[in-house]
Amino acid sequence: MKELNFKPAKTLLIKNGRLVDPSTNLDQKVDILVRSGKIEKIGNDLNADKTEVLDATGWVVFPGFFDMHAHLREPGQEDQETIESGCAAAIAGGFTGLATMPDTHPTTDTRSVVEFILREAGKTMADVTPVAAITKNRRGEELAEMVELFAAGAVAFSDAERSLGNIRILRHALDYARMFAVPLIDVCEDAALAGEGLMNEGVMSTRLGMHGIPNVAEDVVVSRDIHLAEYTGTPVHLAKISTTRAVALVRDAKKRGVKITCDVTPHHLILTENDLVTYNTNFKVKPPLRTQADCNALIAGLKDDTIDAISTDHSPHAPEEKEVEILVAPFGSTGLETAFPALYSHLVKTNRLSLERILKKLISGPRNILKQPVPALREGEAANLSMWDLEAKRTFSAESFYSRSRNAIFLEKELSGVVKAVLNKGKIWQP
Ligand SMILES: [Zn+2]
Repeated sequence: MKELNFKPAKTLLIKNGRLVDPSTNLDQKVDILVRSGKIEKIGNDLNADKTEVLDATGWVVFPGFFDMHAHLREPGQEDQETIESGCAAAIAGGFTGLATMPDTHPTTDTRSVVEFILREAGKTMADVTPVAAITKNRRGEELAEMVELFAAGAVAFSDAERSLGNIRILRHALDYARMFAVPLIDVCEDAALAGEGLMNEGVMSTRLGMHGIPNVAEDVVVSRDIHLAEYTGTPVHLAKISTTRAVALVRDAKKRGVKITCDVTPHHLILTENDLVTYNTNFKVKPPLRTQADCNALIAGLKDDTIDAISTDHSPHAPEEKEVEILVAPFGSTGLETAFPALYSHLVKTNRLSLERILKKLISGPRNILKQPVPALREGEAANLSMWDLEAKRTFSAESFYSRSRNAIFLEKELSGVVKAVLNKGKIWQP
């Protein structure tokens, strides 16, 4: 495990970087003067006496990304990830903020766990916003103390990888969520329909002789949640959608004015069920990798704003758990460190999506859903930014991660886009 060595960056002059910020329509080579953790001045040929200079020639400068779906495993499974190592992975991937999922041990269903997460996060360079459980122990039976959890700092509620099976409880939870004006986040998979499935159900699952998870296991939950959001008038956020039908359902619902939002992961945009032919367990994820047609539908969904955000679903697993036969390996891949390079290499460089669109889905999209302040490259704003060399290439090896785990779906793949520096909370990190 590597340690993230960050240092104070109270005053810094960033020279000659190309600033790109979709929220202010900025795309310009210009200097930034940072003072007291804030962007004091943006302009050409800035000079400041006795100020440390960071030469950003050839680099792009973006506002920091935000991941609204990360599993940091602490408390409970610190061998896989801690809040510190997860935040280090986030910073190393250009994510200055993230939301932690509540499937910790104990579950994030009490005030003390939320407070613990916030306290630990305070020592890191990242902004951390906890998502608390909807039901006690995520069992789907009894509502957690949502009032107390919200007061402690929960920004949303979710039963993480379990979709709420009891729709009556879901409806009650929505009543509370409306009261606090926070979203409920549902992972859309009907447990009974998914059954023992390991991968997408189709020609490939038959060929490989593996149990499949049909698209309909996702589509029925998406449909149900849209109906409930429409009926109650309360926002529901659908996590990591993966099917063509799910995109179409959300698109139609949004046209009707239903308060529904959704996100997608980089791997569901880039990889397909065909990648499972090697039986590599890093490709065993939930929802399962689908088909190229589904990837195309998801990309179209980002283009027309049907899909609001890109989240990593960063899911660390210990090697002894994941480096086993595919039948018994747990679902999930890490994603914080590889997300932007993967998106840039496979979607921007191939002209499938614009850089601006990817940035919106990584910067303002998720923060707007969770009502978090959106950083901007503007004078007076906090210096919350990441710098990249988009021409440089890098291959992630198992030893290269700041995450405690190495089950990365983009492991050993050459990707374009190398992080050069990240600023947040008055601190700077450089690799
Ligand atoms: Zn997840």
